[in-house]
Amino acid sequence: MVEPEPKYRRILLKLSGEALAGDRGFGIDPQVIADIAAEIREVVELGVQVAVVIGGGNIFRGMAAAASGMDRAGADYMGMLATIMNSLALQDALEQIGVMTRVQTAIEMREVAEPYIRRRAVRHLEKGRVVILGGGTGNPYFTTDTAASLRAMEIGAEVILKATKVDGVYSADPCKDQTAVKFHELSYLDVLKKGLKVMDATATSLCMDNDLPIVVFQLSRRGNIKRAVLGEDIGTIVKGE
Ligand code: UDP
Repeated sequence: MVEPEPKYRRILLKLSGEALAGDRGFGIDPQVIADIAAEIREVVELGVQVAVVIGGGNIFRGMAAAASGMDRAGADYMGMLATIMNSLALQDALEQIGVMTRVQTAIEMREVAEPYIRRRAVRHLEKGRVVILGGGTGNPYFTTDTAASLRAMEIGAEVILKATKVDGVYSADPCKDQTAVKFHELSYLDVLKKGLKVMDATATSLCMDNDLPIVVFQLSRRGNIKRAVLGEDIGTIVKGE
């Protein structure tokens, strides 16, 4: 069978920490992470270069800890460490199925991973390794969505594929509001003006300034990462007007 042509040659896949928790809501579900790894392998097998940024919300969220009285910056550093734990878990799951990977971290941790070095990350991608970028941006007060936008730009990714719980961007929360409608296409300004929860404003404006499209789609439907890479209309695309 001839494999279809991917729409993108280099992608940045953004996974929320919550996605790794599956139905548990906390921590890492081994089956869920194995499934994600298998889907990433399918994309690598198409010859697509894959970088991944993972959140940490399944383990620790800085804002939540700050709300209960912890110093915000300190709490955010803990959140960044949580993203590194998730990155190592994904690395393990990928290597167990024969996918070559490198983890690079925004906070140096030489015993466990390489430090983030842009040119080196690109070189790994060129060699077909999946590069998992842990530690967010390395700065408190940011999110892993912003890390995804920043790194996507730096490594020359053609798109951010943002895997979420819902199958696209809606006018309201579809779980709570039955009148919510799904958008197939949005401009960055729509997202910012309407306050839609695609990515936070910092991440969205960074993408807008650099014309980097974001595809939002549902992770839990098997095969969706590949569908998104092939350019199938499975979620919402955010791009310039
Ligand atoms: N974080 C940070 N700087 C960054 C990225 C992440 O301080 O550049 C911290 C922040 O505390 C955040 C936590 O790491 O709450 C986990 O990341 P995020 O909430 O983006 O994860 P997700 O919601 O995608 O699971």
